[in-house]
Amino acid sequence: MEFGFTEDQLSIKRAAREFAEKEIAPKVAEYDREERFPIDIAIKMGALGMIGGVVPEKYGGAGMDYMSMTLLVEEISRHCHSLGTIASFPSGLAGSGLLHYGTEEQKQRYLTPLARGQVFAGAGVTEPHSGTDVAGMETSAKRDGDSYVVNGMKTWISNLEYGSWFISFAQMDKARRHKGITAFVFPKDTPGLSVRPFKNKLGFRPLSSGELIFDDCRIPVENRVGEEGQGFAVAMSAVENGRLGVSARACGIIRACLEESVRYAQERVVFGQPIGRFQLIQSKITDMVVGLETARHLTYRLAWLKDQGAERARKESSMAKMYATDTLMKVATDAAQIFGAYSCSDEYPVSRYFRDAKVFQFVEGTSELHRALIAEHELGLRHD
Ligand SMILES: Cc1cc2nc3c(=O)[nH]c(=O)nc-3n(C[C@H](O)[C@H](O)[C@H](O)COP(=O)(O)OP(=O)(O)OC[C@H]3O[C@@H](n4cnc5c(N)ncnc54)[C@H](O)[C@@H]3O)c2cc1C
Repeated sequence: MEFGFTEDQLSIKRAAREFAEKEIAPKVAEYDREERFPIDIAIKMGALGMIGGVVPEKYGGAGMDYMSMTLLVEEISRHCHSLGTIASFPSGLAGSGLLHYGTEEQKQRYLTPLARGQVFAGAGVTEPHSGTDVAGMETSAKRDGDSYVVNGMKTWISNLEYGSWFISFAQMDKARRHKGITAFVFPKDTPGLSVRPFKNKLGFRPLSSGELIFDDCRIPVENRVGEEGQGFAVAMSAVENGRLGVSARACGIIRACLEESVRYAQERVVFGQPIGRFQLIQSKITDMVVGLETARHLTYRLAWLKDQGAERARKESSMAKMYATDTLMKVATDAAQIFGAYSCSDEYPVSRYFRDAKVFQFVEGTSELHRALIAEHELGLRHD
């Protein structure tokens, strides 16, 4: 693996860092407190080509390599990982299925404005009774002439209130489990589709989340993504890029925890000296430094493998996602400990990092799922 970055990659990283410091850092605490999506900043990012990721330029994307996108997402997430999500969704959870399985018309109509940052979109997989067990979904689709009638519900869906469209999934033959699932793209104004946002979430507060409800929702055949029964493959086509994005976002917040903790440990005086002089505080800083380096190593390696054209990097994507998010939880807990009582105040950002860290351990596959997947790959029980 080549550890050096190209001049292009470094210039994308620099531009993202400058943007995040100037446009995001001064505002994030306020919009996080208000649970408000910073749509003005997201639109600016789109105009600067920071949302197009690895989507090809002919579909409105930035045509970046995976490493550039990873560095960009980490820099944005150093200050706001919700905007890091917006920068990674067109290449991952929301856009990847359309890129790989969509028709030319679907790519032009839905993917292109998303990759340009002109609209936002979501992906509806999780249901009230099936999160980790995706094939256990209960939302159903029945063919009726030139359309399908969809009934059911998705929950915890990101970008809910400002998403213009959602790629979502329904079961056409429950007995066939994952082989019975079909994917569709639903414009927000589809009759029979409604949303119910959740408020006062633990973390990820600027990202709107909630329920996507299908009530005799009629969707034309041309909105089917891929063939009938191909929905699980459509969903899985997004997982590696999605997990790469989550890992890069986690690296951004680990770095934030480290930088804030170092600053505070140098300034906070207890027993007549800065707390950074105490070895038990130093030990936490050491764990943060090593945790960041290791999480980055796994994340950058995944990006590098994808840039080498690796067709599948499932095990590596699980390793990066699990390690980076579990490390984030530990690092955010240690940062809160270093800040003592002040970690409870939103005067310092560590309270936000701590609340967000927990959520990272279950989005895009829980830590338990990834722990199982890595072992199954190693034991030869899994080949996809
Ligand atoms: C802020 C936020 C945003 C989200 N955004 C989206 C989105 O945009 N789209 C979307 O589709 N979903 C989204 N989700 C949902 C998320 O992907 C799910 O929470 C996740 O997949 C886990 O599903 P679950 O919560 O139903 O947990 P469950 O599947 O019910 O699992 C509960 C617990 O059991 C454990 N468990 C399950 N199976 C096993 C097993 N075989 N062995 C050991 N342990 C096991 C899990 O690890 C977990 O600890 C979001 C969630 C949040 C909180």
